[in-house]
Amino acid sequence: PARPIFPEQLPAGLQTISNVVAVSSCKGGVGKSTVAVNLAYTLAGMGARVGIFDADVYGPSLPTMVSPENRLLEMNPEKRTIIPTEYMGVKLVSFGFAGQGRAIMRGPMVSGVINQLLTTTEWGELDYLVIDMPPGTGDIQLTLCQVVPLTAAILLLHNFLSRKFLFVLYLNCKLCVQVPCVAVVENMCHFDADGKRYYPFGRGSGSQVVQEFGIPHLFEFPIRPTLSASGDSGVPEVVTDPQGEVARAFQDLGICV
Ligand code: ADP
Repeated sequence: PARPIFPEQLPAGLQTISNVVAVSSCKGGVGKSTVAVNLAYTLAGMGARVGIFDADVYGPSLPTMVSPENRLLEMNPEKRTIIPTEYMGVKLVSFGFAGQGRAIMRGPMVSGVINQLLTTTEWGELDYLVIDMPPGTGDIQLTLCQVVPLTAAILLLHNFLSRKFLFVLYLNCKLCVQVPCVAVVENMCHFDADGKRYYPFGRGSGSQVVQEFGIPHLFEFPIRPTLSASGDSGVPEVVTDPQGEVARAFQDLGICV
């Protein structure tokens, strides 16, 4: 754990969380949710008490990636709080479990909904809350970072073009909200075929970025059809195969946060 959160500064529902880890990317479709969910289940597999907050109200993917028995969030009417649903011991909150599907809302409204979901949830005692951030670097992301003091950020890099946007994300983390960026994940970086390794989106941007920004860790995750299939199946790959190659890669990432 990098930095303890000071409980007295936090909304009640967040006071019992030790570390909040944000997983961010410049755009959608680069594997942010895949990384957030598999990281969370890896941390849980390592013995931590974990929750996932899916802050991507425009396209919540948590409901597809996990299969909790109860697919609707419950309210505690007396305390006016939200009770997270749960799958394999990990607490889950997503707009997709609120029974309204995908959001059609304007920015300020989205911020309000996200903040309400996050801060009125009864998370209970957690070692880690992993936040699957909405893609990009806008107002919603900044507000979210200001509501909850993040312990660490993981940034997803997809190809060289996203380097510029990553810089903005990084500056947001470092300067505006003082979050240490612990790792860059270059996802879907390469694949092996016919005894050769291919880099479909080019090579070297990850190492350049971590050097340039002084980010301590770089992870290159390959394109893995099983990771994609498990994402659609509702059971994260690190849960079905806790000793496999993917699980080991996520354990290395887990150690960094
Ligand atoms: P985001 O949250 O950034 O929108 P997702 O995590 O939903 O992205 O991933 C987008 C798609 O790519 C999903 O179908 C997911 O299963 C797939 N995917 C993500 N990472 C990998 C990977 N390393 N190998 C293969 N498919 C992947």
